[in-house]
Amino acid sequence: MSEQTQQGERQDARHVVIVGAGMAGVQTAVALRERGFTGAVTLIGAEPHQPYDRPPLSKAVLLGKAEGSAFDVDFEQLGVELRLGREVTGVRPAAHQLDTPEGPVDYDVLVAATGAEPLRLPGTEGVPGVHLLRTLDDAERLKPVLAEQHDIVVVGAGWIGAEFATAAREAGCAVTVVEAADRPLAGALPAEVAAPMAAWYAGAGAELRTLARVQGIEPGAVILDDGTRLPAGAVVVGIGARPATGWLDGSGIELGPDGAIVADASLATSAPDVYAVGDCASFPSARYGERLLVHHWDNALQGPRTVAANIVGATGPEPETYDPVPYFWSEQFGRFVQYAGHHGAADTQVWRGDPATPAWSVCWLREGALVGVLAVGRPRDLAQGRRLIESGAKLSAERLADPSVPLKSALES
Ligand SMILES: Cc1cc2nc3c(=O)[nH]c(=O)nc-3n(C[C@H](O)[C@H](O)[C@H](O)COP(=O)(O)OP(=O)(O)OC[C@H]3O[C@@H](n4cnc5c(N)ncnc54)[C@H](O)[C@@H]3O)c2cc1C
Repeated sequence: MSEQTQQGERQDARHVVIVGAGMAGVQTAVALRERGFTGAVTLIGAEPHQPYDRPPLSKAVLLGKAEGSAFDVDFEQLGVELRLGREVTGVRPAAHQLDTPEGPVDYDVLVAATGAEPLRLPGTEGVPGVHLLRTLDDAERLKPVLAEQHDIVVVGAGWIGAEFATAAREAGCAVTVVEAADRPLAGALPAEVAAPMAAWYAGAGAELRTLARVQGIEPGAVILDDGTRLPAGAVVVGIGARPATGWLDGSGIELGPDGAIVADASLATSAPDVYAVGDCASFPSARYGERLLVHHWDNALQGPRTVAANIVGATGPEPETYDPVPYFWSEQFGRFVQYAGHHGAADTQVWRGDPATPAWSVCWLREGALVGVLAVGRPRDLAQGRRLIESGAKLSAERLADPSVPLKSALES
């Protein structure tokens, strides 16, 4: 659907509409222009703020060390029309049309990049003093809570809970973290790997209560299922997130049981001319032989490049496929935690170093090839491991277990 301009250059007549102005949406717009897409690009976002990055929200922004985290992107110069403070309420793929409170919006190509929304504790919506941490507004609401040094109860010892607890301790708050499982990060890491992380909480002066469930929240207190009453000037709930895909109800676009948009290997959805990327979409990984739903920043950076390439048709009739080695990091309790890859319970786990020390890592091998690496304070292990996972090279478990041997030197000879 390209047209010839008067100047003779090929002008694409298509209008790409991106819904969701977070990392994945913004990167899609940027990547389209980088790929030379000359058609119209509109980026629609529900939040009123200039598009911003989320990782600093639980770190520098929360502590007032950074004013904000707006992306350094000049949308005007890129020729991207920003429509902020507008929530898309529906899509009719047969008509190539979106519904918004301001009226319908036509598209030729649609990119769904609506991210995820945090899970709430049942019955706590609108309860004063109960917070989530997903948006800039959430972080702005939490800043004075930290500054006033309230007693804080954090519900959930996952990534967000740990990072928030870190910031709250740094601000001098008394912090209790309540976790229903028997350890932190129970959904993300095996028990023996996550267990040493429990000590990080105590080391930072935060109390971690595992196997504890919240029964109710009253003004100034959290009540646990064993009757314990925890004083709480504020409660921060970090119990996970689910894809923000409610706006697709009735559209016929396929969603999985996890609520994620079911994308194919090229990040196309079940509807024609509709792609999905970032926290809102799952994709089939040939590398790992299963469908992945990744809620991490790097996925919202890499996926858009594939979407843009496929919209532009950069790879000709065969679409570009998306099959990344997933990567994420977390900064908690003075430690830099990184993970690359994807591993399962059946993979061989190899320790590198002592988890009681500040720097150690864990590798996972499948049929001798590295499939996952977790690095705590060992960024070189992560960087080398990521490349080794990509290459599929076989490693010697024996050499790998020696932390003085660089990962790249553990190659099977
Ligand atoms: C506090 C915090 C800290 C994090 N720290 C890290 C970290 O250290 N390392 C890491 O790897 N990852 C981290 N992450 C995860 C990372 O930020 C996300 O994976 C990433 O932001 C996903 O980008 P996205 O664009 O897919 O979704 P989002 O960033 O959620 O953006 C989606 C946007 O779409 C908008 N939207 C939703 N529905 C509609 C609609 N119907 N109409 C219009 N707009 C809509 C939303 O308002 C939102 O602005 C963190 C996340 C949070 C919340």
